[in-house]
Amino acid sequence: MYLRAKGLNYCYECGEYENNSCVKHGKLAQSYLEVGVDLRANLTKIASGLTEEWLKESEGRFKCSNCGQPLSAWKESCHKCGHKVTFKKS
Ligand SMILES: [Zn+2]
Repeated sequence: MYLRAKGLNYCYECGEYENNSCVKHGKLAQSYLEVGVDLRANLTKIASGLTEEWLKESEGRFKCSNCGQPLSAWKESCHKCGHKVTFKKS
């Protein structure tokens, strides 16, 4: 389900997320997992009030090591300088 249509801000506020029945989130989570991002873990962090910590973590992670430009999770190279990006899978 679309979060906005439900008046929700985060996936964890939705019942479909809780019981793992949300196809939309499943696909999204899968595409993030492929680049080493655990959406569910991230949302758990946000849900427990650790948004700041999570933001800092993501910031440091998705930054071009060459020019410092923030990157999209699924881009393979920096859109600014073209530096090839490899994300650590942890
Ligand atoms: Zn760059």
